[in-house]
Amino acid sequence: MALSGLEIFKKLPKTNCKECGFPTCLAFAMQLAAGKVELEKCPHISEEAKEALSEASQPPILKVEIGSGEDAFTIGEENVLFRHERTFINPNGFAVTVKDDMAAQDIEKTIKEVEGLEYERVGQTLKIEAVCIKGTSGDSQKFKQAVDTVAENTKKPLILVTEDISVLEELASKLKDKKPLLHAADSENVDKFIEIAKATGCPVAVRGKDFEDISKVTEKMRAQGIKNLVIDIGQRDLKEDFFNQIALRSAAIKKKNRLFGYPTIVFADEMAKDPLRETLAASIFVAKYASIITLSTTSPQNIFPLMVFRQNIYTDPRQPMQAEEKIYAIGNPDESSPVLITTNFSLTYFIISGEIENSKVPCWLLVMNVEGQSVLTAWAAGKFIPELIAQYIKKSGIEEKTGNRELIIPGYVAQLQGELEDELEGKWKVIVGPREAGEVPKFLKEHASA
Ligand code: SF4
Repeated sequence: MALSGLEIFKKLPKTNCKECGFPTCLAFAMQLAAGKVELEKCPHISEEAKEALSEASQPPILKVEIGSGEDAFTIGEENVLFRHERTFINPNGFAVTVKDDMAAQDIEKTIKEVEGLEYERVGQTLKIEAVCIKGTSGDSQKFKQAVDTVAENTKKPLILVTEDISVLEELASKLKDKKPLLHAADSENVDKFIEIAKATGCPVAVRGKDFEDISKVTEKMRAQGIKNLVIDIGQRDLKEDFFNQIALRSAAIKKKNRLFGYPTIVFADEMAKDPLRETLAASIFVAKYASIITLSTTSPQNIFPLMVFRQNIYTDPRQPMQAEEKIYAIGNPDESSPVLITTNFSLTYFIISGEIENSKVPCWLLVMNVEGQSVLTAWAAGKFIPELIAQYIKKSGIEEKTGNRELIIPGYVAQLQGELEDELEGKWKVIVGPREAGEVPKFLKEHASA
C-alpha cells in the first residue's frame, strides 16, 4: 500500500524551508502522497528517507514500457480518475490481432495493413502501436511460425498470447531484446513467469478471474521485484470489463492499492463479431481505462475514428495544442508570394495551412506564439495586438526571406489594421483577410491575380 501524507511527513526534514515550492513539509507530504509532486523537489531529503519514500513517490499506476527502440510505447503513469482533474498521461496502445491458424500470406497482408495505418493530425502521428499474436490453433509450431512471420515484417512491439508456457519461455528468450508483452501469468503458473521475467526482462500480463486472483499474482511478482506488469481482468464482456476497468483504476488511485496499480489490457476483438460493435467497445475502453486495446480489424474507417478519439482524450486539457512559432513556407513561396499571419493554436494553424494548400497559391505563413490561443481569444487577452505582432514581424526573419511588404491579417481582427501599420513604421501595408478559413482560397487566388 502507498504511504499516507502523515507517514511521508514523518520522514521529511520538517524544516519548512519552502525550497520545494510548498509552505510546509506537511503540505509537500500531502502532495507527494497524492502523486502530484516529485520527491526530487525536496533537496534536503536524506538518502535513507529517499529510499523509503521512493515507492510513495511513484504514480499510483506504474509506468510500463512495451517493446524496445523507437517503436516501444509507454503505458501507465496515470494518477487521476478523470481527465479534467489534471490530464491523462500515456495514451493507450492499439494492437491488431493475428491468429496462428492464419496462412502466412494473410498474416503478412495484415501486417502490411497495420503498417499503413498511419496518419498525421494536428502535428502528431497516429498509428497502431503493437501486434498481438494469439495461439488459437493449439499447435506450438504454428504459434512460433506466426510470431516469426510477424517479427520479420514489423518492428512494432509484440504481444504474445498462448497458454503454452514452454513456447512462451522459448520465444521470450529469443525475442528478449524486443521486449514483447507475455500473456499471461496466473495463480497456477506465476512461479514460472517470475523465472521468465527475471531471465528476459520482458513485461508480463497478469490474468485473473477476479480481483483476489489478480492481487495474489501481482503481490508475488512484486515481492520478487517484478513490476513491469499489465493486468488482464477481462471476462471478454463489455459490461463486466467496463466495471472491472473502473474498479481497478479506482482501487489504484483512490484506495492507493499498489497491487492493482498497473496498466491494463482489454481484448475488444473478443467482445464482438461485428467490427462496428468492436470499435464502439474499444472507444469505451479508450476513455475508461484500458492501456492496451486489441482489435481484429485493420479497416481505416474503424481505426481512424478510434485514433482521433484517443488523441482527444489524451490531450492535456490545461494546455491548448500549439504549433511551433515560425515562418511556414507553403508551396515553394518566393519574393512575390503573399505573407499571412495567424496564431499558434494548433487547430487554427492546421485549418489555415490546409486552406492555403487548397488554394495552390504559394504563401509565407507566419505563426505567432500566443500560448496556443485562437486569434480572437489571443486578441482579447492582449497577446495578439499591434505592438506584439510588429515585434514578432521584426524578429521573425520574414523581411530577409521576401521583399513583399504586404501582410494579410485574419478578418476577425480587422480593427488592428491601422495601428499595426503604425507599429510597423509604415514599412508594411496591412491587408485584412477573410473572417472564415473556408474563404481563404478564393481570397488568395483573387489577391494573386490582382
Ligand atoms: S524542501 Fe523539503 S525540507 Fe524544505 S519545506 Fe519542502 S519538504 Fe520541507
